[in-house]
Amino acid sequence: MKLELLIGVMVGILGFLLFLGFDIIPLIILGFMFYFLYVALGRRGLLKVENYQEVISSDGFQFDQIGGQAVAKRELQEALEFLIKSEEVITRGIRPLKGILLTGPPGTGKTLLAKAAATYSDAIYLSTSGSEFIEMYAGVGAQRVRKLFQGARDKAKKAKKNRAIIFIDEIDVLGGKRGQNSNHMEYDQTLNQLLVEMDGLTTQEDISILIIGATNRPDLLDPALLRPGRFDRQVKVDLPTLEGRLEILKLHCRNKQLDADVNLEDIAKETYNFSGAHLENVANEAAILALREKSKTIKTIHLKEAVDKVMLGEKLANKSNPEILNRVALHEAGHALISELVKPNSVSQVTVTSRANALGYVRQNQEEDQLLYTAKELRDQIKVCLAGAMAEEVVLGNKSTGAGNDYQQAVKIAKTIISTGLSTLGILSFENIPSEMLNNEIKNIISEEELIVQELIKNNSQVLLRIAEILKEYEKIDGDKIRNILAA
Ligand code: ATP
Repeated sequence: MKLELLIGVMVGILGFLLFLGFDIIPLIILGFMFYFLYVALGRRGLLKVENYQEVISSDGFQFDQIGGQAVAKRELQEALEFLIKSEEVITRGIRPLKGILLTGPPGTGKTLLAKAAATYSDAIYLSTSGSEFIEMYAGVGAQRVRKLFQGARDKAKKAKKNRAIIFIDEIDVLGGKRGQNSNHMEYDQTLNQLLVEMDGLTTQEDISILIIGATNRPDLLDPALLRPGRFDRQVKVDLPTLEGRLEILKLHCRNKQLDADVNLEDIAKETYNFSGAHLENVANEAAILALREKSKTIKTIHLKEAVDKVMLGEKLANKSNPEILNRVALHEAGHALISELVKPNSVSQVTVTSRANALGYVRQNQEEDQLLYTAKELRDQIKVCLAGAMAEEVVLGNKSTGAGNDYQQAVKIAKTIISTGLSTLGILSFENIPSEMLNNEIKNIISEEELIVQELIKNNSQVLLRIAEILKEYEKIDGDKIRNILAA
């Protein structure tokens, strides 16, 4: 910032001198000479750099404070044994483990795992982020990397520990593929310095340093970083499974007063695809709702409301007008009806409360995390996606823009059917398929399913209208009630 300010002031002064009629060319040449000197000093690491943000304590955080992620925890603990038993590693001639890369979506607990790793191995913990190393000016990033490693050694010595863990979040910012950045000289120098520091780590040192990097985009990393001897352990930290979600919910509700009839397993089932950070937010929002309602305990209704809030955003103050409400109610009733018809017991709740990110929503009962799908199951999912717009069409005679996301989802599933060889095109190379052929097949799949959905909705129109009526009156309906109407 200081340099930008200085440049701005200089340009102003030069403009003023030019205005007064001075010859400013010698001054410009002098300015360039200073700049090149600055860059040269920066490259040799001779400039004083500002300190970057770093966290220097793992706060005694333990692995058992992390819910789910059993595989990631086991793999990480296994890798940490190399750090803990460093003497045995030396005598056996094993190359020391220098880097572990945690990969996975945001909010899944990568930072927590790194902290727990430091506590587990009784190491000094330093945490920083890739973006802290990126500056416009030559050499600053590289110098910060040097300082980081030196800082880890000094701090470990001071604390009389012989291990240090350096956690670098968003390592893709610092370790992206070289030569791809517009400011590439500076990025490349910073990454080169990290590689040099990692190569310099040996078992002969008094202090063993382990780097734990975290990223959501391992595909962006320079292959040199993933080479054996650097980050040669990759630990996947995925979205939690049903069991994991339950564990995380239990952990975050430990310090909260839950009503006796709260069943966290039900909440875990309804939070498919939620990350640990989302689940923490659900527990927190539920506690806030209970406080707002002056309820001593958190009830199921608070937790369900919190799930909706985290998934769909805050409730909007303005209610939809009756015409739109009618359309939204029919749309959501369509999704719910077809969902129950193709997969009984699949609907947990339907709401038509306007929220920041949706006008209505069907919450599914996800009994377990499914890893494989048959062609029929995928086609049934397409039916559910198409059902909202089809219900509008059958009852109101036209569709609306509200189905945009549903259609995108339907196309995505149709592409999965084609790419996995489950379509009439058979097994094929998805990348090489002509776009016209692909589009035709997507269209065929979707039109076939659309016809079936139309028939199902026409044959069950009384049920559809009844669900929509209840939605308009009460803003929501439970899956059980829908099943009762269907059974009747
Ligand atoms: P990012 O990629 O965005 O940096 P991250 O994977 O490092 O995310 P964390 O910072 O570890 O995510 O998690 C954020 C918060 O989410 C934690 O402070 C914690 O409250 C909660 N959380 C995430 N995962 C878990 C988990 N497995 N168990 C318990 N809490 C979790």
